[in-house]
Amino acid sequence: MVKITFLGGCREVGRSAILIESKDKNKCILDYGIRFHGEERLPYDFNKDNLKAIALTHSHIDHSGALPYLYKDNSVPLFTNPVSLALTKVLIKDMISISNYYYPFGFRELNRLIENSYNLDNGFRQKVCDNIYLTFFNAGHIPGSVSILIEVDNKKILYTGDINTKTTNTPIGDIYVVSAKNSEMPTDENKIVDFTDEVTLYGVIKAKIQEEPEEYRYYLGYKGED
Ligand SMILES: [Zn+2]
Repeated sequence: MVKITFLGGCREVGRSAILIESKDKNKCILDYGIRFHGEERLPYDFNKDNLKAIALTHSHIDHSGALPYLYKDNSVPLFTNPVSLALTKVLIKDMISISNYYYPFGFRELNRLIENSYNLDNGFRQKVCDNIYLTFFNAGHIPGSVSILIEVDNKKILYTGDINTKTTNTPIGDIYVVSAKNSEMPTDENKIVDFTDEVTLYGVIKAKIQEEPEEYRYYLGYKGED
């Protein structure tokens, strides 16, 4: 059975972090961000045995800020892309430098994270280990942002991350500026149901997508309470 554990980001804005576990106990982490206030700013900790990969949707630190913590004593691959990695590096450096809050990691862990980063092109189906695959899709939120399709034990789970399906002038990568609908995500009911035949994360309930297609965009873009 596939197990999904939300380590943060539920009924709160910030510290988005999701642990996905296969029936063989292999693990993947999708995002590991920080919260901007309060005493507990990191996501919940977890047993890192059999952690096979980490994947990042985008550089905003509510999704990326706590990633260095996972590199204290780990060298698992971080799947991302050059734009997200460059932005994440700048944002986390800044966060460590100017914050009054004590984060249990520093530049050493950030450097180890960078050393273990791998580019994953959008649309490429990356094998992580037996029965776990990752595929990125442009999410249209900020440069470098992706939604992550994770296939675990032949089940498909789509984690949208922050997503924008409307037309904007968001730069794609660091070269092109496009005036087109940025997201590569399917935008009508049938497509998304075909696409995610199991579960859609980020508070999106499949039944609602099927019954109320008009509300699909609303749910996908919603970042507050459920
Ligand atoms: Zn964001």
